[in-house]
Amino acid sequence: MLSYLHGFHAGNFADVQKHSALLLALTMMKAKSSPMACVDTHAGSALYNLTDDRARKTAEADAGIQRLWQCRAALKSADWQPMLAILSELNAPQRPTAPESVSVYPGSPAWFARNLRPGDSFTAFELHPGESDRLTQWAQKQGVNVRHQDGLKGLLHNLPPAQPRLLVLIDPSYEIKAEYTTVAETVIKAWRKCRHGVFLIWYPILANGLERPLLERLEQGEVPKILRSEVRLDQPPERGMIGSGLLVVNPPWGFDTRLQALMADVSGKDRLGLAASMDWLVPE
Ligand code: SAM
Repeated sequence: MLSYLHGFHAGNFADVQKHSALLLALTMMKAKSSPMACVDTHAGSALYNLTDDRARKTAEADAGIQRLWQCRAALKSADWQPMLAILSELNAPQRPTAPESVSVYPGSPAWFARNLRPGDSFTAFELHPGESDRLTQWAQKQGVNVRHQDGLKGLLHNLPPAQPRLLVLIDPSYEIKAEYTTVAETVIKAWRKCRHGVFLIWYPILANGLERPLLERLEQGEVPKILRSEVRLDQPPERGMIGSGLLVVNPPWGFDTRLQALMADVSGKDRLGLAASMDWLVPE
């Protein structure tokens, strides 16, 4: 149990999809002045070293954030700027020229923390003891509330939030098959407690289709307005993860068009070797 460590996968193509969508949601929600509560139910670590043994063992970032970094001058969407600016700052502090590659890559808590304003709150849940300890150490300087608890139960316990708006990232490791259904049931319960909340739910697209119960349960459920963004590998493996999916409940107005432009930028073999699609799993 809890054998998953995101350090082996940080900065891969799924992180590029998930974190660019998260930054877009944060950017769009920050455009309004009213405070927001942010919740990261499965936070992992705050910062990953893409040169360490874990990252180099899989080298997944090479086809993800490193590839994006190499072709950054050709990206058409202006919505890459927040991500590129933070990567520049973390990887080349006080240097006039941009680094050739990305060594320090932020996990979701660090992307959230970079976008908080006075009055916003941020709670990060992480159950793995080692990850949670590292996150707690980092959080002490950031004003982030870290909880070493189950993130799905913790989310429900914390809703509705004190702030008028809510942004939640649900990004489990899906080590247990039942998690797909548990996540769907949690989203339904969370939505009942905060119907205007924006929920980002990540899932792997697997060769054996194990993720389908998540989509089927939400498709039949009562939660309206669920956007689905998927990116599939042009050259998928026979087993395991063949793509990355993201559901967005209550996306801000215009989010779909802007996310589509971001995903168009990573599509094709001269980019990240992905094929992107978008539709409404549940319309308004
Ligand atoms: N959200 C991170 C990011 O984007 O950088 C990556 C998170 S990783 C996919 C999933 C994390 O969830 C792992 O660190 C794992 O230890 C943690 N985890 C697993 N089950 C959990 C649970 N029930 N509650 C909270 N965290 C959990």
